Amino acid sequence: MPAQHDCCVYLGEALARYGFGDDHPFGPQRHEVFQHAFFVNGLDKQTDILPPVAASQQTIELFHTRDYVERVKRMSKFGTGFLDHGDTPAFIGMYEAAATVAGSVCDAVDRLLRREYRRAFIPIAGLHHARREIAAGFCVFNDCGIAIEYLRHRHNVRRIAYVDIDAHHGDGVFYSFEDDPDLIFADLHEDGRFLYPGTGAAAETGIDAAAGTKLNVPMPPGADDRLFEKVWPKVESFVRRGKPEFVLLQCGADSIDGDPITHMAYTESAHAHAVTSLCRLADECCGGRFIALGGGGYNHANIARTWTAVVSAMLSAT
Ligand SMILES: [Zn+2]
Repeated sequence: MPAQHDCCVYLGEALARYGFGDDHPFGPQRHEVFQHAFFVNGLDKQTDILPPVAASQQTIELFHTRDYVERVKRMSKFGTGFLDHGDTPAFIGMYEAAATVAGSVCDAVDRLLRREYRRAFIPIAGLHHARREIAAGFCVFNDCGIAIEYLRHRHNVRRIAYVDIDAHHGDGVFYSFEDDPDLIFADLHEDGRFLYPGTGAAAETGIDAAAGTKLNVPMPPGADDRLFEKVWPKVESFVRRGKPEFVLLQCGADSIDGDPITHMAYTESAHAHAVTSLCRLADECCGGRFIALGGGGYNHANIARTWTAVVSAMLSAT
């Protein structure tokens, strides 16, 4: 079906399956909570809803090692034990669910590059802690890293901006591209002295040829919208100076006041502010190409409010 709108949103059961059970903060209800708010707010009438797509093993291996991918596949059959040291339990169908997160992001990349859409949102995505060879922090496959490699290897798009406003540092992306001068990385997160994963100090700016291409901004616990908006112009000008051809935003809702596992105090206005700014930047520098990934967020009311604010900002940014 031809595109009806210039913004698309991925929703569907296969994406909702990425979750670690009802008792885990990253439970399967997160998708439903967003979907409900999305319809209540009438966003379905202003966007195209697209079905999730599973990534091939070959696509996943653009970022992850084959050994790790095979391990996830094996553990996915039985769904017992942990993939890491205790944060990320295995579940039956985990391989397919994680492949669907990554595949939906890559499908959005394809569509944006074919100019079917200008902007895309994938709510269950932005699994920024997984490394090339390990799972971490509720993240099995790092769809952000996979999308970056996919842009390069399938579409020859090299200079990519990755911006992250989740409460947690995007360590899986940062360390995988720490020495990569073409990955423009900007991350506002709760100071690692107070929150998992403990990384992302301001002094971490990239290494070797990539020195100066990464911006880490640790925020104090309790950081609010005023502080966010004070820091944001620095992030925007940093990304702009990097001359990206594509913008990815991980807009985790766990940096919103009232999240049960972090200590930040933004409202959804901070996320809308970031989206508006980056959509404009992408329109000016990247032919519009902008993808937002839902990321973390463990307070259901916050997820509903924040991600709908993100989509609304994507619709109104000019
Ligand atoms: Zn997070």
